[in-house]
Amino acid sequence: MLATALSASIAGVDGVPVRVEVDVAFGLPGLTIVGLAGSAVLEARERVRAAVRNSEFAVPDRRITVNLAPADLPKEGTGHDLAIGIAILVASGQLDGERLPGTALIGELALDGGLRPVPGILALVAAARAAGARSIIVPAGNAPEAAATNGVAVHAADSLRAVVRHLAGVEPLVEVGPPGPLRGEHQARLDAPDLASVVGQRVARRVLEIAVAGRHNLAMSGPPGVGKTLLARAVAGLLPRLEDDEADEVRRIHSVAGLGARPIGSMQRPFRAPHHTISTQALVGGGPRVRPGEASLAHRGALLLDETLQFRTDALDALRGPLDSGCVTIARVDGVRAIPARFMLVAAYNPCPCGWAGVDGHVCGCEDGARRRYQARLSGPMRDRLDLHVPLAPVVSGLRGRRESSAEVARRIGVAWELQRRRQGGANSALGADALDARLGFEPRLLALLERRGRQLGLSLRRLHRAARVARTIADLEGSSEVSRDHLDEALLHRPKDAAA
Ligand SMILES: [Zn+2]
Repeated sequence: MLATALSASIAGVDGVPVRVEVDVAFGLPGLTIVGLAGSAVLEARERVRAAVRNSEFAVPDRRITVNLAPADLPKEGTGHDLAIGIAILVASGQLDGERLPGTALIGELALDGGLRPVPGILALVAAARAAGARSIIVPAGNAPEAAATNGVAVHAADSLRAVVRHLAGVEPLVEVGPPGPLRGEHQARLDAPDLASVVGQRVARRVLEIAVAGRHNLAMSGPPGVGKTLLARAVAGLLPRLEDDEADEVRRIHSVAGLGARPIGSMQRPFRAPHHTISTQALVGGGPRVRPGEASLAHRGALLLDETLQFRTDALDALRGPLDSGCVTIARVDGVRAIPARFMLVAAYNPCPCGWAGVDGHVCGCEDGARRRYQARLSGPMRDRLDLHVPLAPVVSGLRGRRESSAEVARRIGVAWELQRRRQGGANSALGADALDARLGFEPRLLALLERRGRQLGLSLRRLHRAARVARTIADLEGSSEVSRDHLDEALLHRPKDAAA
């Protein structure tokens, strides 16, 4: 007898519907899974067998063939277990399959018949819904996250038995409601240090505000103890709220990474700060199961590399792709997967091993060679992708007087962001070079000045365009539709210099 159940699989950060077909026939007893199954799906065979037996059902002593369709899609993960188990019970006459059409089954089976959560539930539920499911049964551990999807009834179950009882009409599973109020939001705001706690550093605060307002890549260098990390972490509290369309995308990436319900219901932009010992794969993503890396987890938000020059140089260089294209591309046997990764980079580092190179009134104690090698850890091409650089020095003035809070600065940033969004639908940092014309407030006179400055300073076209985008943001912070000479000069003043010192 033949039975069919609907499930879903992850490809990159997207879900793909999977049809699980089970045939039970006379022949040599055995369980075969076909349909280009990955090793995890083959292990499903053993899990499903044990789970069915330990739920007091029988694995029929027949030839059981499981086909996962479409056949040309490599299936990843363990989320098909439940659909396979249920389809076996239906195909062997132990369960009536009349409720199966319109129902999708997602979850990993434990050997004792329990149901375990799987990563990427949002993408899986979305795929099942698109394939026509009106009801989706998910592991209880995934339920709060899955319930964020509209237009489909989500039922939570904790065991194979509970799913069987639901489908048999004996004991219906509880339908899970949409997630509660935004708990995560306040938490994240509290975690970010407030700018009111930063003493002095007038210039750095200004550059930080410009950087966040236009989502420009920012470098901060200086000796230990000047507050680089504090300022960099304050970025988390300055980023404007996520827009609705961005939030869906962000949630889906975090869901695939198995971060669960944490960012769900929150409109807070991601702020990621991986430790410098992180592997290249963990930073940019990849691996046998294509997990999003920190670069993708920072999508639509900020990625802080504290002690940037301590990161593996290959990891730093691997960020060039996403910094240019806004996505990470991973080559696989079945094609290329692109995972979104458009983030604002915040780099904070000591200018040399001792930390005092280039700081007024201080002497760097490092040997020339050691200093050069250290600075070379941030390669030229990486420096080319920075928009702003601010060197920090120990505070000697500005110790008194009122210090602006993050909330005040965030308000100005929010206004500037709204202007960008209305004008071009996205951040100034994402503007193409061809967009820098009169419609964006760059009058011909200013463009001529830009070229002149470029020649004087010996800047590449790439760097000139970066400065022009920063100038657009400075104008937005002022509420000015036109970009002026002053805006441009301020942008150029804070441009990244070749050597960190
Ligand atoms: Zn030094």
